[in-house]
Amino acid sequence: MQPRDFQALGTGDYDLLVVGGGIHGLATAYAAAGRGLRVALVDADDFGASTSFNHQRTAHGGLRSLQTGRLGYARESILERRALARMAPRLLRPLPFLVGTYRSVLRNRLAIGAAFRIDRFLGRDRNEAVEPELHLPPAKLTSRAATLKLFPGVRQDRLTGGANWYDYQIVHANRLTIAFAEGAESRGARLVNYAAAVTPLKDGGRVTGMRVRDAITGDEVDVRARLTLNAAGARAGDLMRQFGVSHDLPLLKAMNLVTSKPASDIALGASPFALRATGDKRASHGAMLTLTPWHGRAMVGTFQSTSFKQPSDLPVTAAEVDAAIADANSAFPALGLTRDDITLVHRGIVPAQKGPNGAALLATPQILDHDRDGVAGAMTVIGVKYTTARRVGARAAEAAIRRLGQPSLRAWKPAHDILPGAGIADHEALTIETARAVGLELAPPIIRHLNAIYGDRSAAIVRLMAERTDWRMPIVPGRPNVGAEIVHAIRFELAMTLADIVIRRTELGAMGHPGKDIVSACAQIAADELDWSADRRDREVATVDAFYAS
Ligand SMILES: Cc1cc2nc3c(=O)[nH]c(=O)nc-3n(C[C@H](O)[C@H](O)[C@H](O)COP(=O)(O)OP(=O)(O)OC[C@H]3O[C@@H](n4cnc5c(N)ncnc54)[C@H](O)[C@@H]3O)c2cc1C
Repeated sequence: MQPRDFQALGTGDYDLLVVGGGIHGLATAYAAAGRGLRVALVDADDFGASTSFNHQRTAHGGLRSLQTGRLGYARESILERRALARMAPRLLRPLPFLVGTYRSVLRNRLAIGAAFRIDRFLGRDRNEAVEPELHLPPAKLTSRAATLKLFPGVRQDRLTGGANWYDYQIVHANRLTIAFAEGAESRGARLVNYAAAVTPLKDGGRVTGMRVRDAITGDEVDVRARLTLNAAGARAGDLMRQFGVSHDLPLLKAMNLVTSKPASDIALGASPFALRATGDKRASHGAMLTLTPWHGRAMVGTFQSTSFKQPSDLPVTAAEVDAAIADANSAFPALGLTRDDITLVHRGIVPAQKGPNGAALLATPQILDHDRDGVAGAMTVIGVKYTTARRVGARAAEAAIRRLGQPSLRAWKPAHDILPGAGIADHEALTIETARAVGLELAPPIIRHLNAIYGDRSAAIVRLMAERTDWRMPIVPGRPNVGAEIVHAIRFELAMTLADIVIRRTELGAMGHPGKDIVSACAQIAADELDWSADRRDREVATVDAFYAS
């Protein structure tokens, strides 16, 4: 990506200004720029640092929406799951799920078998034009014996067998978010992180852009655009109010526990046995939890609050973590989770609606054209799933094109292109060839590591490795991560802070604090590259530590 240029934002002539660089804003910028709109995107923080960092990493095929008879949404989810597999095959893997079937109204074999038959029909083309290693087998029922073998801790009372289906795990979710950012930029969008949209610019009642503040220097510029699209996630309600639109955006809090517990290679689903209390002391209000293996470790979620929340409720309390642990142990007694096993708590404030138990997840995404609310020049996108963000973004871009009266813009199907750095190819050969060309011989674990995280971007990292000894050395002895990854994140992926580098670009800290040595080694390389003072370097380290402590 091009180096960050905050001031240039103010000199552009934009059709569309996207506020928010989570997955929905990025997917919209990607689609809109691909269709030929002149696009700018700003995020107050780093791209994908908010809810889009905190999801459970499952690209859902919408099986659960069959329970409520939403066949259209289930079909859309299957198509989007497939679109991700086509666009980013290197970053996904098929993940088997297993839940027990019971003598019960909802989880009986007859009902689940019927849902699976519908799923097979709706997903008959789920593997079309998908790499063979990502093909998903059809969902099936398993015997009681097979279920007990695969899921020894499953609740046995009234157990009749199991239900087994496949979705994708987005193994390198942060790399996928960055791939969307790179894709948007490669199609002409200007992207700036650490740039907060502070006030709408108005001409009469019409929104004509936003005043944007550089979170690093405090400078401000006016970014003018024919249309401003609010993709601010949990803050979308605030921005709508600033536009002059009164639209209620209820929110709830959702969490996952990332743990140090080992996990088998199958994701398990179960509900906590009994509701332990009322109100928010219940971490999951009896809804099904999944125990998902991620890089060999167990991740449990998703816990949802039953009461409505505000964006400021994002910090997680000790009581919330304890309630989540209790529910996790109730659903998966063999897990034996304690506070010491928790390495990271994923948390997000997400769109909600009223459900039978209080707050429930908003069922379907929304694209609001505020022209209909009497405020011209502004739209809002409210997304509900990372999985379907690509489609929501493409629809938002289409709505923007219609509103701008430019239907003649080129047709382009974003689901048909592979995102930058996300394809499957013989990356290993390219990495080895590049290393030879620059006179390096790389140890096999380093080659494997670079290819797994960066794909064809590994070659650029290898070229950097050739430049300096400390860039070609492992960050700490015994690890495959090399110093050049940090320089690459800064020079080519708009990493501005140590947290961007450690948590999101290199994924060193994606699952929890990577250790003091790794953080300080990364900080030193970043300080050299960005000319940080010792004081600044220490503050960056403190910010990374605080991220995990909170
Ligand atoms: C615990 C949990 C588990 C989940 N699991 C899954 C899952 O397994 N599969 C799935 O598909 N989905 C899952 N989801 C849902 C998914 O994560 C979200 O739907 C998605 O990430 C939301 O993306 P977004 O772009 O709408 O919001 P965000 O990622 O929050 O992005 C909004 C961005 O707007 C920026 N912003 C806000 N105000 C301003 C401003 N004034 N100026 C500039 N920028 C601003 C923020 O900094 C932020 O980066 C899960 C969510 C949670 C919380």
